[in-house]
Amino acid sequence: GVGRKEVNVLVVGLNNSGKSTVVNNFKSDDDKVTDIVPTVGFSVERFQKQNLAFTAFDMSGHGRYRDLWEHYYKDCHGIIFVIDSSDRLRLVVVKEELDLLLQHPDICQKKIPILFFANKMDCKEALSSVKIAAALGLDKIMDKPWHISASNALTGEGLQEGVEWLTQQIR
Ligand code: GDP
Repeated sequence: GVGRKEVNVLVVGLNNSGKSTVVNNFKSDDDKVTDIVPTVGFSVERFQKQNLAFTAFDMSGHGRYRDLWEHYYKDCHGIIFVIDSSDRLRLVVVKEELDLLLQHPDICQKKIPILFFANKMDCKEALSSVKIAAALGLDKIMDKPWHISASNALTGEGLQEGVEWLTQQIR
């Protein structure tokens, strides 16, 4: 389990989905935070919580920075995929990015767990986690454990339950 040396968790999703807000919820004041900006327009947020190393970045920029973010796939042990469940227009873009992630050579062979946050559940126009799961075709993911939790990253609702599931899955 999480008793091992270091566990790398990637936090991914489109811009504005709530990744920074989710990640900030996990942080406590004494957690080490490093913000790395390898190039203009692509920023990576990293922080360490005990033996969990979180790395967060946007899957956006029209794929211009794809090589930069895919570089993090190699050493990852778990993925948190954050979705703005009120952004119905971009759900198709979310599905495209998810499919690319699942097909990536550094991901497709591994049985790494994927936790989905159907975030912004508090928004009036938010789709339920069941509808998000259906729109993204999550039932087709057979070779990896996955879980979807509705969340409100502003209040923290749903986050703890999700992360507990994820850390239990990481072996
Ligand atoms: P990122 O670009 O994915 O890192 O997204 P941010 O964490 O910066 O969040 C984008 C915007 O959505 C900010 O204005 C957040 O305050 C807001 N936000 C994040 N999570 C939630 C949520 O669960 N509910 C609502 N209503 N707003 C949220």
